[in-house]
Amino acid sequence: MPAPDLDTIVSLAKRRGFVFPSAEIYGGFANTYDYGPLGAELKRNIRDAWWRAMVRERDDVVGIDAAMMTNPRVWVASGHTETFNDPLVDCKECRQRFRPDHIEEGQYGEPARDEAGNVRCPSCGGELTEPRLFNLMFQTQVGTVADEGSIAYLPPETAQGMFVNFKNILETSRKRPPFGIAQVGKSFRNEITPGNFVFRTREFEQMELEFFVPPDDAPQWYEYWLAERLEWYADLGIPGHQLRLRAHDADELSHYSSGTSDVEFLFPWGWGELEGIANRGDYDLRQHAEHSGQKLEYFDQASGERYVPHVIEPAAGATRALMAFLLAAYRTESVNDEERTVLGLHPRLAPYKVAVLPLSRKEPLPALATEVLGLCQPHWMCDYDETQAIGRRYRRQDEIGTPLCVTVDFDSIDDRCVTVRDRDTMTQNRVPIDALVEHLTARLDL
Ligand code: ATP
Repeated sequence: MPAPDLDTIVSLAKRRGFVFPSAEIYGGFANTYDYGPLGAELKRNIRDAWWRAMVRERDDVVGIDAAMMTNPRVWVASGHTETFNDPLVDCKECRQRFRPDHIEEGQYGEPARDEAGNVRCPSCGGELTEPRLFNLMFQTQVGTVADEGSIAYLPPETAQGMFVNFKNILETSRKRPPFGIAQVGKSFRNEITPGNFVFRTREFEQMELEFFVPPDDAPQWYEYWLAERLEWYADLGIPGHQLRLRAHDADELSHYSSGTSDVEFLFPWGWGELEGIANRGDYDLRQHAEHSGQKLEYFDQASGERYVPHVIEPAAGATRALMAFLLAAYRTESVNDEERTVLGLHPRLAPYKVAVLPLSRKEPLPALATEVLGLCQPHWMCDYDETQAIGRRYRRQDEIGTPLCVTVDFDSIDDRCVTVRDRDTMTQNRVPIDALVEHLTARLDL
């Protein structure tokens, strides 16, 4: 079935408590969102799935949690204070980037214009984006006296935390290249054109890995991470026709990058980036070595070789991924002439894994259901719902993506069995309460 349109997902997200417009009682705050009970779980599950794949299930990656506000010299070394400073426009066709004042000044010849008088791309005549103002970094003040020395920035990316801790990690973790440092955290960019729900916001979450490798091995590791990262989204349920890798053309590459590819998702308005994977060479470590005066290199005692590792960086957005997972999971289908909406989220991502539903509010059903809930809660995030007819409760769980419902009915009191109902197939199985945790564990396969 075709992907749902944006409004459908925005409205479901609001109605069911995934994502709310921020500070709504005050009229909101442009393009800013708050994650509700289900959104907070979904986002946490995305982060956890990433951490599990990138850190926990590997022995060559360690995680960190670096300060958000750090020494501003970090952003000088990284190039952010310098290169985030001019208004720039991008060509939507050929993706080249220009300073609008340079186009107007005729640096590329007489500016091409459309009927409305708007300037077109000097290279291919394509449509240009709105100018984006660099510096995109939010500046703030640390301490009580506002002077030059008190300026700090909110991080526009999480990556620099890994570079500035490279030496610490090398000295304390017994890792040697190839190895990686991973981090999940909030990033802030004063985007000029935020929009499309949580696709582009000024405050968002990133999941980034900096993978340090011997220089000669960088091309293989780049290929390795491309495949690995594409697979991660596919494994978590994004179908092949909505997912692709797109290699940047030479003129799109940052000056230090010898290769960048984006993992893209087919959003309702077209393909959009979920994650960028870049071969960054030794740019970052060299910059920080130069600006800090510290040696940021690896000395291989076995070979006696000293080198600055090259870096492969898979940089993903957790909030953007959340939107893609919601869009990919959404489907409607008709069952007995009734339409049901299903969020077919991967069980690992689903906010609730299990919903416990007593058929009636009459005791002793709620008491027994509470006992069943108590058995499940140590293992999974569970919902408990005793209102409305059971059919409507199933529909609600389908719509928020709960893979399994456990229904406690009047027979349960005598036979100590419950009904396990499957979100996707709607099949029902009778299972003894004593064997329930084992049964659900096997079914969820987290
Ligand atoms: P874009 O071209 O869309 O602005 P980018 O290439 O600047 O993105 P990166 O700096 O590579 O993005 O950041 C890595 C990831 O962080 C992106 O792939 C995206 O998922 C996420 N991301 C970046 N900017 C935003 C934003 N303003 N809102 C939400 N997610 C973002």
